[in-house]
Amino acid sequence: MVAETPAPEKKSNCLACNKPIKKLKRYYRDGQFYCNKKCWRNYLKKSKEEKK
Ligand SMILES: [Zn+2]
Repeated sequence: MVAETPAPEKKSNCLACNKPIKKLKRYYRDGQFYCNKKCWRNYLKKSKEEKK
């Protein structure tokens, strides 16, 4: 078995949908990358719900 070592997080994954952001338009907000504004808002909404 080949143990794959997890690559260090480069903060290049969308925090909303967790997709790696490469060719996609990067939406930079608050030091994090998102696919677009929609994902950013989704993440904000999600994080707010988790805080409850
Ligand atoms: Zn996204």
